[in-house]
Amino acid sequence: MDEKAEEKYLKAGKIASIARELGRELVVEGASYREVADSIEFKIEQQGGKVAFPVNIAVDIVAAHFTPSSSDSLVFKKGMLAKIDVGAHVDGYIADTTFTKEIGTKRWAELIKAAEEALEAAIDVTKPGVRAKMIGGAVERTIESYGYTPITNLTGHSLKRYNLHAGLSIPNIMDDNNDIIKEGDVIAIEPFATNGAGRVAGRKSGNIFRMMRKREVDDPKLNELIEKIYEEFRGLPFSERWIAKQVKKPKPAIRKLLRFGVITTYPVLLEIEKGMVSQAEHTVIVTKKGCKVTTR
Ligand code: MN
Ligand code: MN
Repeated sequence: MDEKAEEKYLKAGKIASIARELGRELVVEGASYREVADSIEFKIEQQGGKVAFPVNIAVDIVAAHFTPSSSDSLVFKKGMLAKIDVGAHVDGYIADTTFTKEIGTKRWAELIKAAEEALEAAIDVTKPGVRAKMIGGAVERTIESYGYTPITNLTGHSLKRYNLHAGLSIPNIMDDNNDIIKEGDVIAIEPFATNGAGRVAGRKSGNIFRMMRKREVDDPKLNELIEKIYEEFRGLPFSERWIAKQVKKPKPAIRKLLRFGVITTYPVLLEIEKGMVSQAEHTVIVTKKGCKVTTR
């Protein structure tokens, strides 16, 4: 890998890990989702990084793709199982990392450990020449050794500049993914463990967006916003919270952009049997003999 690119991946990793650890401190009983997300995102920017995607806060049976809106009043409560997914980039070079924290109770300690240990097992087997499904196999064996089930239709992914899902999938089970890991690949490995069926489905529309097609519409104010979204995110996901800082009435603006096909939304993903979900995630650069974790 180009030395400059590697430097930026490592810097993004450091920034994301510091922001993630701030999040771990902030997620306590009574804290608001919105303040936690804003604080983590601010921490990324304060260190000279940019937000690669809105902080995802996925609680209990929600696996991914929820972020609080600007008017959100949700707060963390005792007994919740919260997954906080953090993304930072430096000049488009992305770091993607997650922790799971149970608030005030210890019911799900083993479920959390299952995902964390699965991530370590996956990192241990990641090196050039390994098939993606072998990484999935390491995840699956570890999670099952805890008596839980991996989520089969969520996967890790390769990263490229300004590209969060760059083509390669890293499964959480030994499937038929024969893609081979190469030196210089950058991948996010993200085991999800559950006491449910091991599948998620999109149940409601979310408040995370991505630009699909940059085009002019018949509204000058909206065109200004489209230009800003394009400049700021270059195709990476963004939140309603960010839109609310740009325009007075974010909701109608978002509705129009969706209708014009300029942006699209991600559905919130829930475990199909209402199982509790834990997740762990690191970003790694594949090296000659193994891999280097950027987000430790
Ligand atoms: Mn992530
Ligand atoms: Mn990811």
